[in-house]
Amino acid sequence: MVNLTKLLGLERRNPKDDDGTMGLYSKDGLFFKTSIWKVVTIAKLFWRYGWDIKRIGEWVTTMMSSFSRIYEYQEKGMAFTTVEDMLKAMDEQFINYTRISAQTMFKDAGFSEIFINELVMSAMRVNYGQTTDTHGFVAAVSMAGVESGLWSVKGGNKNVAESLLKASGARLIQGKVTNINMMKSATGMPSYEVQYEKAGQQADQEESIAEYDLVIMATPLDGNAKMKVVFEGFPSTFNIPNIPFHSLEAMFVCGHVNLSTFGMDQQDELPDSIMTTNAEVFFNSIGLLEPVDEISNKAGKPEESEEYGVWKVFLNKVPTEAEVQALFDTRKSVQLVNWLAYPQYQPTKELPSFVLYDRLYFINAIEAAASAMEMSVIGAKNVALLAYNQWYSHLDKIDEVLVPSDSSQDSAQGKQAQESVKSEEL
Ligand SMILES: Cc1cc2nc3c(=O)[nH]c(=O)nc-3n(C[C@H](O)[C@H](O)[C@H](O)COP(=O)(O)OP(=O)(O)OC[C@H]3O[C@@H](n4cnc5c(N)ncnc54)[C@H](O)[C@@H]3O)c2cc1C
Repeated sequence: MVNLTKLLGLERRNPKDDDGTMGLYSKDGLFFKTSIWKVVTIAKLFWRYGWDIKRIGEWVTTMMSSFSRIYEYQEKGMAFTTVEDMLKAMDEQFINYTRISAQTMFKDAGFSEIFINELVMSAMRVNYGQTTDTHGFVAAVSMAGVESGLWSVKGGNKNVAESLLKASGARLIQGKVTNINMMKSATGMPSYEVQYEKAGQQADQEESIAEYDLVIMATPLDGNAKMKVVFEGFPSTFNIPNIPFHSLEAMFVCGHVNLSTFGMDQQDELPDSIMTTNAEVFFNSIGLLEPVDEISNKAGKPEESEEYGVWKVFLNKVPTEAEVQALFDTRKSVQLVNWLAYPQYQPTKELPSFVLYDRLYFINAIEAAASAMEMSVIGAKNVALLAYNQWYSHLDKIDEVLVPSDSSQDSAQGKQAQESVKSEEL
């Protein structure tokens, strides 16, 4: 994401204010709050979590050093057939992380129970709507995503996709793909007939069909997806990976937070973001939104009681009226968006392939390891390289493992990767 943003001439929004505060909320109420004074926050964190606060930064940097090897592979035009092969090439250890729970992984790494149950848990709740029962690898990515220095693209991250589309010169057909039918040529190589219903300005035109030598799926293939694709003409052994997705509600509220729920009297005592530490709490997180176009010290924060802030609440199910009232005592507007957001993670021995069939690729296989924009970009580049290498029979560039480069370079790359993975979506 860092490179794409530079390549496309897009500007970064400044990282969120350092004086933005964060709170932790359990079923017994708000029990921890950071301060606008960094030194006070550090002292409070050390008091509660001890040296784990320092160790987690080091642990994430080491993990990201290994992770960053993928950029070296991709720079050299190398690609991987499966998510397992890709993770192994970064670090053999990463496969173990996908096989054990986050809870076990951090315990084995020496982190305390309170640290895991509060800080790792709240990161999993806000980033993935899940708990520390997920597999370890996604929790590692999640921890990389809660360190300071998050950034996003000025005007909105969607500018990356829009500018890339323009820069590529590709022909975009707006529509909904309904079927992918495999056809065999005389040579025995498959080609694919893609059937779609046109949308946008072309919506009034008829359903269309086009034949392609190669097809790349760039969407999750969850069985409950709103736009299911039917695969036809494949042998009976053909299976698409079964990756169930987590259903998430994102509620956007322009209004006043109900301070009594958080045990506060004054608006300015309220943290800018509150994360939760129990699956029993009915919401996963609540945070104040900032406009994508501008940034000021307290953008979006109601300075006076008459002003409204715009808040984003993540929940695992549609809230009842009483639950909404518990969070907000005044509402000017409420919008609820349902997403099949990311995989429902658990320790697994099976990670999917980027190849569904000959010349039929699947970028979103990478979400089985962890879902994030940076992961999608890595998955997309891997599939582009894989398709190219397979088409031109560059077999030496598929599933090969490089000897790791020296550790000082690794560490610098680790920091760069950490910065990338932490790119934030609004
Ligand atoms: C609420 C939420 C918050 C998130 N926050 C962050 C964050 O802060 N940072 C971060 O890095 N990541 C975040 N993510 C994850 C991030 O959004 C995903 O990793 C990323 O969007 C995946 O990109 P993608 O292109 O693979 O899939 P998608 O963004 O899901 O795009 C798939 C596209 O395919 C289209 N499509 C589906 N079926 C068909 C069909 N049959 N025919 C035609 N088109 C079809 C869909 O309409 C969609 O436009 C968040 C995700 C959610 C849901």
